[in-house]
Amino acid sequence: MNFRNTLEFAREMDAQDPLAQFRNRFYMPQKDGKDCIYLCGNSLGLQPKSVREKIEQELIDWQNLGVEGHFHGKNPWFSYHHFLSKETANLVGAKESEVVVMNSLSVNLNLLMLSFYTPTTSRNKILVEAGAFPSDYYAVEQIIKMKGFDPNECMVECKPKAGQHTLETADILQQIEDLGDSLALVMFGGVNYYTGQYFDLKSITTAGHQVGANVGFDLAHAAGNLPMQLHDWNVDFATWCSYKYLNSGPGGTSGVFIHERHGNNPDLPRLAGWWGHDEKTRFLMKKGFKPQEGAAGWQMSNAQIFPMAIHKASLEIFEEAGLNNLRQKSVLLTGFLEFLIDAANKEKELGFEIITPRNPIERGCQISLLTKANGKELFNQLTEKGVIADWREPNVIRVAPVPLYNSFEDVFTFVALLTQ
Ligand SMILES: *Cc1c(COP(=O)(O)O)cnc(C)c1O
Repeated sequence: MNFRNTLEFAREMDAQDPLAQFRNRFYMPQKDGKDCIYLCGNSLGLQPKSVREKIEQELIDWQNLGVEGHFHGKNPWFSYHHFLSKETANLVGAKESEVVVMNSLSVNLNLLMLSFYTPTTSRNKILVEAGAFPSDYYAVEQIIKMKGFDPNECMVECKPKAGQHTLETADILQQIEDLGDSLALVMFGGVNYYTGQYFDLKSITTAGHQVGANVGFDLAHAAGNLPMQLHDWNVDFATWCSYKYLNSGPGGTSGVFIHERHGNNPDLPRLAGWWGHDEKTRFLMKKGFKPQEGAAGWQMSNAQIFPMAIHKASLEIFEEAGLNNLRQKSVLLTGFLEFLIDAANKEKELGFEIITPRNPIERGCQISLLTKANGKELFNQLTEKGVIADWREPNVIRVAPVPLYNSFEDVFTFVALLTQ
């Protein structure tokens, strides 16, 4: 694509964009009576207008039916998680039985590691990406301690080469091979939240399996951002939140993937509760846990209907737009952002550095911009002008043009404000 550095060009791109109408399905935050330039969907996605009706339906059933809503509501609460399976499976390239929506992300990360990190005296290491999200570090440290090992020894970080910001796939694979049969688990982000680097999940999974380790991913920044094929790639497990690219509201519910070869294994260690028990005998209220087959067998509590209703509204929009279509637009939109920043940077010697990989295959819709000493000041000025982006200490501005609701004009206006 030959981008041009003009507002007219941005408007032409918007006029040709088959997904442009999806912007109207969302509420755009306002400042001084005008739409903000919202580039923060990697932190909190916008509210779909269809959410209100979805919640209303459950409020009405609760109001009119009380407890009977479990079986006689329009969307019976007893089965509610099933209503999300198809869309969730499509989102990550899984079979319906391999996914379930439950709890929240950090909780699920802990639950899944209890099942998939079973260290021995010789095989006890967990490989994480350096600069992982703090929640992931904490969960990994604690699970190692809980199993009686020392995090200083057993948590191994995969670090970029000196002077680089991101990892090279070859180095990740080499480190996995080097750890060999001391490696129990690879626990990586799908997209690193800080740099925006999208890892080669398929190769990492294959390499992990070659040395006999389990491989799991935290897909907080990948779900709804990039098409994935978790089943075909043989990933052991994954989990993600729904409030970033998946637009399902603050603290929204989380998705879980467990490959079918594990999902049907009742002997894997796991915590349990009545909602993971065989649905046919759940209400016999007897002792003796018999997990459902598939990811659903990891559920513990009864379904959280309101966050799930919000999530349902959002997943329907993803189905309609199509993840591959979104990805196509995303590559252009992020490429346009990169092009405009590069052009202004060169012309005005602004000294910005893009630390996100340049290759579109290694990123989703985020660009992380390393700023000079006055970065925070610059960021505050942008906020004053109605731009909502994200500041990360010590000096990074993260910008995420989201293909569902951002336009090429948003991107153009943002870079004009950033570099004026
Ligand atoms: C956003 C994010 C989290 C947050 O977890 P919650 O339990 O939903 O608060 C965890 N890990 C990563 C990688 C994230 O990006």
